[in-house]
Amino acid sequence: MNDSPANTEEIAELLVYLGRAARGTDAGSDLTAAQWTAMRFFARANRLSRTPSAFASFNATTRGTASQIIKSLMQKGHLVRHQAVGDRRSVRLDLTHSGQAIMRNDPLHNLTDAIDRLDGKLRTALRQALPALAGELAKIRDTVAFGTCGDCRHFSCCDAVSYCACVDAELAPTDLGCLCVNFAASESRKSTTPSLKSKEIS
Ligand code: SF4
Repeated sequence: MNDSPANTEEIAELLVYLGRAARGTDAGSDLTAAQWTAMRFFARANRLSRTPSAFASFNATTRGTASQIIKSLMQKGHLVRHQAVGDRRSVRLDLTHSGQAIMRNDPLHNLTDAIDRLDGKLRTALRQALPALAGELAKIRDTVAFGTCGDCRHFSCCDAVSYCACVDAELAPTDLGCLCVNFAASESRKSTTPSLKSKEIS
């Protein structure tokens, strides 16, 4: 395989095709493609990122459009809104039991099953390439890049204790795979050894 410009265009087109194919399977289900995107985001984002504005950034849409999608999911009983203690302007969205149940029928499982069928080396290469690609796109567009702790320059791990310099807190194992609005791409990927400590941010 060569690295000609035509090849990079082919990769971009394949990425768009995969996104379209995934959204196509969303269309025949109980939720719209936009609602599924929101459900996946609130299922995977850490506590500080489960806000309407972070979802608007993630979904590359306006705050008003994001609020409409969130409102429709609250009316269906899949999301619940919590007011942050001590800050009435700050809200957090969580999945309800019904939201968690519907995620078990996420049409994206077709795509995750397909990824599971790939050779391990290919999966690892994809796992490394896609966050890097998302980071480069965010730089070009001067917008927020979402990612997870293992690829973030705020992350460090020492003696099995994971730490986030951005929020000055230790991270629990469950934090490490969560999407984060404070993510900042690291030049070199660091250790992702799971933490044993319990002060969580998710
Ligand atoms: S290390 Fe990075 S991705 Fe993880 S919680 Fe901190 S800012 Fe977010």
